[in-house]
Amino acid sequence: MPAPLELERLSAAERRQLFHALPKTDLHCHLDGSLRMETVCELAADPEVRRLADRLGYALPEDTSPEAMKGVLTPGVDCASLEDYLRPFDIICGVLQSRSTLARAAYELAMDCAAENVMYLEVRFAPQRHIHDGLSGIEVLQAVDDGLARAERETGGRILSGILVCALRNYAPEIGFLHRKVREAFPYAEPRELGAYCSLDASRLAVEAKRQGIERIVGFDLAGAESGFPPHHHRQAFHHCIDNFLNITVHAGEGYGPESIQEAVTYLNAQRIGHGTRILEGGLGLVRYLRDRRVTVEVCLTSNLQTRAISSLDAHPLRTFLSEEVRAPLCTDNRLVSGVSLTDEYALAWERFRLTPREIRKTVLYGFKAAFAPYARRRQLLLAAKSRLRALGLGGERSRAEEAAYEAWSNGDLVSA
Ligand SMILES: [Zn+2]
Repeated sequence: MPAPLELERLSAAERRQLFHALPKTDLHCHLDGSLRMETVCELAADPEVRRLADRLGYALPEDTSPEAMKGVLTPGVDCASLEDYLRPFDIICGVLQSRSTLARAAYELAMDCAAENVMYLEVRFAPQRHIHDGLSGIEVLQAVDDGLARAERETGGRILSGILVCALRNYAPEIGFLHRKVREAFPYAEPRELGAYCSLDASRLAVEAKRQGIERIVGFDLAGAESGFPPHHHRQAFHHCIDNFLNITVHAGEGYGPESIQEAVTYLNAQRIGHGTRILEGGLGLVRYLRDRRVTVEVCLTSNLQTRAISSLDAHPLRTFLSEEVRAPLCTDNRLVSGVSLTDEYALAWERFRLTPREIRKTVLYGFKAAFAPYARRRQLLLAAKSRLRALGLGGERSRAEEAAYEAWSNGDLVSA
């Protein structure tokens, strides 16, 4: 029986090594916010990428040196609001308008996750931002799927992945080529009507792409500016997904209060909530409602600070989630734009909330339990993760099924054909 792990007695470097080695999931990770900096710089300087971006109406910066791009793409804690934080995405979307750049972005993201022992990743993005007259929605999703499949193959299944299709809360012509075309076609429509219709179309695309064999599509999400765009505007889109057995997660309680979380769960059937930072304004009743229904909150600490969703980490509900046993796995949100890895987020959570070994184990396992992967795969991953946790000194009861699952995962037996 190994001695119980005492995190305080480890050096900062040893603790970081432990967080790096943890078997992890990243359930809230935006493709367009998580590219490698050098890739964005390289693509933004590529004449072919620039020509296409220009034709489609995306303004790429003139100076594409890493020094100049860093200032633009990683607003950090100087952000004034969520809207400010979302600005770099316009540039990044400008370089992601072809099959090859989308596949590359997805591949590199999955490889970066695998390098820090993320065993299961759910990549989310809004295909609507990448659709244009030369690229269909199915092609966009296929490209991302190809990139993920390549990473799964090359790592021998050490990382497995899913795709979440995002609908956008707000309608604005600046969002991209498709939205501009929609505005041209319906010049008198209210933004709210166009937003709801674009969401419905995105949900139909997600369902159709899955029907055509893109099995990695496991869920549907609602993203974008929250204030003024309540979840119920998008009800029809979500009900189309529910009718077709897609899982649901919704960004809520970040830029708006607890009503947004409640609507996401009651109107849109959300199984998971992105952020939920303002949940305590709704009292413990809402917290316990989520807990009792096993609704998961995807926690992104650094991003929440940067978007000013919370004034400081002391105001974050993570401690309440832990004590109330709400499923609350740590996630990155945007690896590039927020400048974080999942290892960083575990280090930060420990620094500020002093997670006990038991709480770390639970936080890790919540991610596997809340994954939208099909049940058999989710169970195998969960058992494999338990085995790995035990090897790191964070074990529960020993079980042969866990050892076998970990061995199967290490041998690549879980990779899809
Ligand atoms: Zn997000």
